Order: sequence, then structure tokens, then C-alpha cells
Amino acid sequence: MTGAEMMALIEELYPIPRSITGDGVRETLGILARHVPLETHEVATGSKALDWSVPREWNVREAWVRDPNGDVVVDFREHNLHLVGYSVPVRAKMPLEELDAHLHSMPDRPDWIPWRTSLYDDNWGFCLPHAQRIALPKGDYEVCIDSRLEDGHLTYGELRLPGRSERELLVSVHTCHPSLANDNLSGIAVAVCVARRLAEIDRRCGIRFVFAPGTIGALTWLERNRDTTARIEGGLTLTCLGDDNPLTYKRTYSGDQRIDRVANRVLAEQTQAHEEIDFHPFGYDERQYNSPGFRMPIGSLMRGRHGEFPEYHTSADEPSFLSATQLEEASDVVAEILLAMDRERVFRSLQPSGEPQLGRRGLYRAIGGDGDPEVRQMAMLWLLQMGDGTRSIDDVASRSGITPAEIEATAELLVRHDLLEWC
Ligand code: ZN
Repeated sequence: MTGAEMMALIEELYPIPRSITGDGVRETLGILARHVPLETHEVATGSKALDWSVPREWNVREAWVRDPNGDVVVDFREHNLHLVGYSVPVRAKMPLEELDAHLHSMPDRPDWIPWRTSLYDDNWGFCLPHAQRIALPKGDYEVCIDSRLEDGHLTYGELRLPGRSERELLVSVHTCHPSLANDNLSGIAVAVCVARRLAEIDRRCGIRFVFAPGTIGALTWLERNRDTTARIEGGLTLTCLGDDNPLTYKRTYSGDQRIDRVANRVLAEQTQAHEEIDFHPFGYDERQYNSPGFRMPIGSLMRGRHGEFPEYHTSADEPSFLSATQLEEASDVVAEILLAMDRERVFRSLQPSGEPQLGRRGLYRAIGGDGDPEVRQMAMLWLLQMGDGTRSIDDVASRSGITPAEIEATAELLVRHDLLEWC
């Protein structure tokens, strides 16, 4: 999939009115399923999602505001950011002063429509350019929001590319934003592109792609996949990948996972410039995956950062804000991070509780091969110390300063003595 093809997908998805639930998400996943064999999951309203529960489903038939002259001045059909997400149904006449309490605009960006949602309280509202808002004539306005907020489902998509082992890598993207291109149609398009590329490659790890509404979707997925989480060696959330900024990698909670080291290396090799930032508990679904009950090694890749670029959550985040080259570079980097994670040899100690007795096995100061016995001894101790099933030969080499070749040869020796196994 080229950058131009990713742009075409983004333009096709852009007008669809998405939210955390509803037909817009289904339509979006239906389009993605034409590119990759995506499985769609429907989870009923009220279902438990860790400490949360799946909300009512929201769908909109029409929503508009008519001015005192009878002209429609704000119309959901023209731009889906015009309606506050999760607005309850309304059919009313009211003076401008009363309507104004339900209007949202950006005085400092008078031509842009802001995006607002009101997910967890029964409210309604419209968003419009500030220039238009201050020019509204006084008088009585007619308001129509023909929305349905009722028991239904939360919809998420999942794509599993099998590998030779049980181990997996995870890519997660949020699918809940309406007409906003960078956030996160760019992440969705890059995930689809990467899935198509990696499907063809023989891999040790399976790769699982989750296309789910932000927060509640990831929580729902975690609730239903607790057993899967232990098999996941690492992964990424993907957001805002099409703008002009250099790629930024946000580290995992501990910052010293395999994915952190691999992302650092791949970004240094493949990009002119990149940035890295520490984990912080704000942003997208890396928050859920890294929470203490899971502590999954999931980093995040982005360009423009959450809340920090002016177009963020406004009508200016449209397809023309993105470029095909930026999407292509992002997909190259994501694919290479996943493949590098897959290529590394991950191992596990078979005697993880306390140091195994090497002397009894003839391994203490063993002269194996041509290696220096002192170095081999240290390599053995590092391997046994780091053998918690999350570390690779490269991790041990990087931490110990011993060459990867020596670490690998020592690991094979420990495998022969039933002290280590490959994951
Ligand atoms: Zn967002």
C-alpha cells in the first residue's frame, strides 16, 4: 500500500460520522475489511469493561439549527463536527440567548469548527466557526437533533496475523473520532498498510491489530483478552502520523522494555530526525495497556502530539493537512519495528528462582568453545538474571556490553543444560 493509497483510504473514511459506538464505526470497519481480513466484535451495552461498562449506542439521523428567517445555519450533514458527540435528542424552539449556552466555537481560530463530545452526561450542543456564531441574528431558533441513544453495542475490529509461536505483537489504533484526519485516520491507514505488508512475511510472532474506540474500546478489549496480554512481547499505539512533525516515540511505563530499545534503534536508522519522550499517563490507549494490572510493553508512535498541534480536534484536521510521504515513512518505521521485535531471539530461564547451581552442572568457569572463560561466566550470569521471558539476546548484549555472538553462544550452552529455553 503506497502513501497515495493510504491517502485515498483516509479520504474515503473522512466523511463518516464515527463515535465510540454506532453505525459510523461499523461502516468504517466494513471499509477496512475490504483491505484486510478484519473480524468485527459487537459488545452489548452494559457489558463490563474492567471498572467501566459499555455505554448506550449513539446514532444520528439528522441534526440542524434554523435561524429566525427559517434558514438552516448549522447542519450535521455538511460537517459531522457540527454536532456535539453523544448529543441527546432535541426538538425545540428557543431564543438565541438560550441556544448560545449550547454552542461551541474557538475565538482564536474563528474559521475552524471545534470537536466536542459529551459522553457521560445527557447533554447536547452544536459546534461552529466563531465568525459565524458572532454574526447570528437575534430571534427564535429551531433546533433539531434526531439522535438515538439506546441499548445497542460497542463495535471493535481485530485482525490476527498468525506466527510460528504463541507469542504476539500488538498494534492498537483508536477508531472513535469523526471527521478528523490526522487523529486518527492516519493511524488507521498506517495500521492497515503495515498489516498488508507483514501478512506476507514468515514470522515467529503473531501480530494482532486492534481497531477500537479510544479508552472504552481498549478497556473492553482488555476485559475480554486478559489471557492474551501475557503472550504479547510488545507493541505500539499509532496516532497522528500524517502531519509535518518528525516521528515521536513515547516510551512504555518503565521505559526499559525491548520495544523501547528497538524503536530507538529503528528510528535512528530510518529517519532524518526523531524524538523520544517518557511515558506520561495522558494520550491514547497506551495508558490502558501500561496500567499496573497489565503493564504491557506498549509504546506509542506519533508525529503531532496529543493536544499540542493547533489543528488538533478541529475541522482543520482534514485530509489536506496530511501528506502521503509522511504516512509512508511512518508505515516503514512501524513495519521495521515489528519485524525487528520478531527477529530478536527471546529466551526464558528454566530455573528462575534464585541462581541455579552452575558447579553441579560443570558450568562454573566452563571453558566452552574459544571464548574467554571470564566473559563466558559473566554472559551466563547476565542471561540467567535477565531470563524472565521478556528479554532477548540483544537486550543482554546491550546491558552487559558483551558481544551478541558471545551471548548467543552462551545461551545455546545453557539451553543444552536445560537452564534456558527459547520463547
Ligand atoms: Zn483525539
